[in-house]
Amino acid sequence: MRLTVLGSGTSIPHSKRASSGYWLETSAGSVMLDFSAAMPLRIAQENLNWTELDAIWISHFHLDHCAGLPPFLAGTKHAPEMKHRTKPLRIVGPNGLDKLIAGFDAAHSYRLLEQPFPVEIVEVEHNEPFELIRGIEAVACKTPHTDESHAIHIRDTDGKTLVYSSDTGFDDLIATFANGVDLFILECTFIRNKPKIRHLELAEAVHLIRRSKCKKAMLTHFYPEWDKADRINEPISGDLKIELLLAEDGLRITV
Ligand SMILES: [Zn+2]
Ligand SMILES: [Zn+2]
Repeated sequence: MRLTVLGSGTSIPHSKRASSGYWLETSAGSVMLDFSAAMPLRIAQENLNWTELDAIWISHFHLDHCAGLPPFLAGTKHAPEMKHRTKPLRIVGPNGLDKLIAGFDAAHSYRLLEQPFPVEIVEVEHNEPFELIRGIEAVACKTPHTDESHAIHIRDTDGKTLVYSSDTGFDDLIATFANGVDLFILECTFIRNKPKIRHLELAEAVHLIRRSKCKKAMLTHFYPEWDKADRINEPISGDLKIELLLAEDGLRITV
């Protein structure tokens, strides 16, 4: 798998970090992991083949994770590049996804689901395996962030695995869910003394990474306080014996 970080930021406006979005290329096709409002621009800036995108995973309904869906669907509806596409686009997420998209759609009769190609909206339950795209096994895990929020575990056809936590509070279950994965993408919104219980700070993230015994990890979803992280000489990785990456917009990783 190949992952491109499109947005390593949060909902706070930032000059170098867009809100959440990750482009994942698997052996069976491409998937977006979350889709903030910046994503139509970011996909184009990174020269990614958006006309062939197979699936979009929505982790939860905070706007920094899903607000790019309406403008993207408005774009695909009218883009000349999409006129001859026949393969479906799957949009997968928690219960309520269908209602969310219908709500966007109803705001101004956009008819976002009337596309030149089929759009499938798939709502998944936690702990129930599903195919993200054909041949790519996935399963969702509840996270302590919002009522509907999910982490996702993805297995490519070659056996490589990835977990994307999206936003989460602290819960050892996330480490169990990410046990032994090749890449663990974990939110780390704050450095320390987190003001919000439903996000992580660095010591908690490092604990979860250590417990997961993952092969490689990447921290992401950074509040602007991370801009000063090198200046405050924070011990980023503690005693972890694996590669720990800090996400940046534009970073590309092979899994
Ligand atoms: Zn967020
Ligand atoms: Zn959130």
